[in-house]
Amino acid sequence: MPPKAAKTPKPAKNTQQTRRIMRALEAQHPGADTELHYTSPYELLVATILSAQCTDERVNQVTPALFKRYPDARALARATTAELEPQIQSTGFFRMKSKALIGMAQAVVERHGGQIPASMEALTALPGVGRKTANVVLGHALGVPGLPVDRHVLRVANRIGIARSDEPVIVEQQLTSALPPDEWTRASDTLILHGRRICKPRPLCDKCAVRDDCEYYRKVVARAPATRTGRRSQGKDTPRSHGSHGGPRKRQTSPTDRAQRRKRRGEDN
Ligand code: SF4
Repeated sequence: MPPKAAKTPKPAKNTQQTRRIMRALEAQHPGADTELHYTSPYELLVATILSAQCTDERVNQVTPALFKRYPDARALARATTAELEPQIQSTGFFRMKSKALIGMAQAVVERHGGQIPASMEALTALPGVGRKTANVVLGHALGVPGLPVDRHVLRVANRIGIARSDEPVIVEQQLTSALPPDEWTRASDTLILHGRRICKPRPLCDKCAVRDDCEYYRKVVARAPATRTGRRSQGKDTPRSHGSHGGPRKRQTSPTDRAQRRKRRGEDN
């Protein structure tokens, strides 16, 4: 389900432009999908909780043994933090994560008979599960349209101009308004891959399929003075770069910084 439509700022791009831009990005990153390994909604939920402040690659190293020992929510609900912590230690924040995993599993057993619920409301009522995690599981493992907004989606969508907000829930609302539901999850996966490979904090605009449509490129990168090598300086370290998508010259906190602060406060992963 898309988030409730609050009064939100209008993105620079309209629906038609957003769909065209997403098609171009999907052509640049064909087959975009989550990189977490899973075989069930339970496994994806566990892997997504573990992926907070951790790479998918690291999570994928830890989960095979974990899923063997705790194959379902009932098994995980019986675990203790003392036995779980060493198994997930390498993913970071292991004390907080072990509490979240056990709390989530116990709630799934008590409230849903051990099955991962297929609704945003029920998922976000579970301990340790925020809107982004719920959307990951809904969209990839439960067949319910969901558009997870992580720091990559936040940065890339704002730069291009298909969204305009530092708040993930508002970006989710803007993107889901512009795209058909059956494209939400792939759009998120595509924006995440674009953020990891091309539109990094210091973006590789020369390799970008949507450069001609990008507000950040037009307002920030293209106006930056060329370096001695003839290349334009790009990204957050350039003197003309202010926040995620240009704007007045003042000290701004990037969406990434804000998302990380929210994570530290435990609002989502
Ligand atoms: S043109 Fe540059 S800033 Fe814009 S989306 Fe592409 S890589 Fe990101």
